[in-house]
Amino acid sequence: MLGVLALTIGIVVLVDRLYGHSTIAFAAAIVLLLIANAPMLRFNCPRCGKNAFFRGMFAVPWPNRVCTRCGLDLDAANSQKR
Ligand SMILES: [Zn+2]
Repeated sequence: MLGVLALTIGIVVLVDRLYGHSTIAFAAAIVLLLIANAPMLRFNCPRCGKNAFFRGMFAVPWPNRVCTRCGLDLDAANSQKR
């Protein structure tokens, strides 16, 4: 996720330097970020559905290993799915 973010910023800066200020580059970057965030937003607890990236009111850039609501081990739950 952080790699994608860095890559996105890199692309925006690169396109900006090559072609000048471009709204297309920013639009593309936003689309890229949405694509990168799509699997993150689907990463929910299989038992209670709580998003693993939220700890209380705060969103974190890495998923919880244990569900903060029901205590389910998300590492084990996800390795079972694969
Ligand atoms: Zn849960």
